[in-house]
Amino acid sequence: MRYRNFLGFSSAAIVLFISVTGFDLPKLPGGGVPDAIKALPTPDMPVPPLLVTGVGKTVYLFEVGRQTPENDNKVNDKVKEIFQRLKTAALADEKYHAVAKELEEEWKLNTLRVKNPSIPAAAFPGGGIALYTGSFKDIKYEEVLASILGHEMAHLLSQHHLQRWNRAAATALMEIGPKITSGEPLDKMDPKVIGPVLGAMGIGYVVGEDLPLEREKELVADCSGLVLAAKAGYDPAATEEFLHKQTDTPQLFKLHPPFGDRYSHISKTCLSDAQTAFHKATGGKQKHDSALLPDVKMS
Ligand SMILES: [Zn+2]
Repeated sequence: MRYRNFLGFSSAAIVLFISVTGFDLPKLPGGGVPDAIKALPTPDMPVPPLLVTGVGKTVYLFEVGRQTPENDNKVNDKVKEIFQRLKTAALADEKYHAVAKELEEEWKLNTLRVKNPSIPAAAFPGGGIALYTGSFKDIKYEEVLASILGHEMAHLLSQHHLQRWNRAAATALMEIGPKITSGEPLDKMDPKVIGPVLGAMGIGYVVGEDLPLEREKELVADCSGLVLAAKAGYDPAATEEFLHKQTDTPQLFKLHPPFGDRYSHISKTCLSDAQTAFHKATGGKQKHDSALLPDVKMS
């Protein structure tokens, strides 16, 4: 029953939903196709958004349950503050307002103690964000963390997890999605089967499937996250410097495009927009000292 409550619908309802809709676009009771789905670029294979969200929420519970929570209040309070500012900025953003409103009650963020994580944070369809505090030693500054969380939120606000479904992954989702959402233990499932499903959502790394979202979506999320963080009052200069410094360390956060590509993409595409947004949010402040994140000690 825990899953029913958590997801807000039962696995039986999902099975019914799928059997009614087949592989067609999900229909509303009145027979129409939701506007949010119509607006999406056509993937190879449409998938029921409710099922994707349900799987995302369940996998998020699994990930949070298997890791050690961060117990340093200073760290958790700081993360909460940054997250709150980003959520407020997303709600106020014309582009994101509608989805941000839908996600308003769904956002969840857990800080998890993982040493040398392969990504600093991950977003799960349905509103869950996992932040691995072992990455703080590399991130160092609040402004950089704000851009990273902004990047993860941008994946969900832009609904990237609904946009990459090839036939094989979509078919597997229909088969195993209901099992996952009904609570069948993920670690008992064959990673070869669930890997591509979670990979399509950008959360495949949970089962050892190193498939980030496509490079293009990662670069888009970099820019959207940077601008969102700037709108929340975080100076984009710190993130630009961070990406620039990392260009020689490709092994850091290996599940994203190379830092050189990310740096040149934000410099060319969105840094000036982010600077404008930052100045607007801070009343024209030109000089800003970066704020250090609380220290996280990993034994
Ligand atoms: Zn990403």
